[in-house]
Amino acid sequence: MKCTLCEKEIGDIESAIEEGWMPQFYVGEQEYDVACPTCSEKYLQMGADGEMELRPEYTKTFMDSSSYSPPPKSESYKLPAHLL
Ligand SMILES: [Zn+2]
Repeated sequence: MKCTLCEKEIGDIESAIEEGWMPQFYVGEQEYDVACPTCSEKYLQMGADGEMELRPEYTKTFMDSSSYSPPPKSESYKLPAHLL
């Protein structure tokens, strides 16, 4: 599987969680799969409901870039290079 945000690869969900990956996060109401520790630290925050969510300053970019309608859960997404 791959980090949703940067496409860094990890073997499976068990090893991902062991290495500190987020198993899922939210952008608005939409749930997305894993984010690596680097992206989690940089782009995610703990939401009011206790779920990890994309920081508000990145949400518009994410939605604009992923033709939000909503995107398929498995579709990998890469943040624009200027944000990395
Ligand atoms: Zn990542």
